[in-house]
Amino acid sequence: MTKSKLSAGDIIEARCTKCREILNHRIVAMVEDKVVRVECNTCNGVHNYHAPPVAKEVKVKRIASPSKPRSVSSTPRTPKKDPVELEREEWASLQPTFQPDRALPYDMNGKYQVRHLILHPVFGLGFVKTLIVSQKMKVLFKDGLKLLRCQ
Ligand SMILES: [Zn+2]
Repeated sequence: MTKSKLSAGDIIEARCTKCREILNHRIVAMVEDKVVRVECNTCNGVHNYHAPPVAKEVKVKRIASPSKPRSVSSTPRTPKKDPVELEREEWASLQPTFQPDRALPYDMNGKYQVRHLILHPVFGLGFVKTLIVSQKMKVLFKDGLKLLRCQ
């Protein structure tokens, strides 16, 4: 890292104790080369310097719902799979059952049923997975699930 010496009056990023955000602060006091007190440019509050957290600490917390009982099944958990990959696998497993010559050309004013095979001008062959009440349906394509309009 570069050794740019900070001094009182410099603007640095710090966590503001009042705004609770990483904001620009003006250095108010330093002890040797350590920033000890800063003034927030946003709320003008003077407080001790809190270094902004390092990027790797800002990890997205895993959503763990405490109300959900832990599954005690003995089957080993398969490693997490990308949903897109799962959709592709599903498509690949369904594909042999497709009869492309019976695919219905996709039309957003068309009426489709679950398990219909449709032909979309962009996405290609698709398998109607779910019909949604608000004139939409979920269609599985080679590239994954897409939400399409229908009647
Ligand atoms: Zn502030």
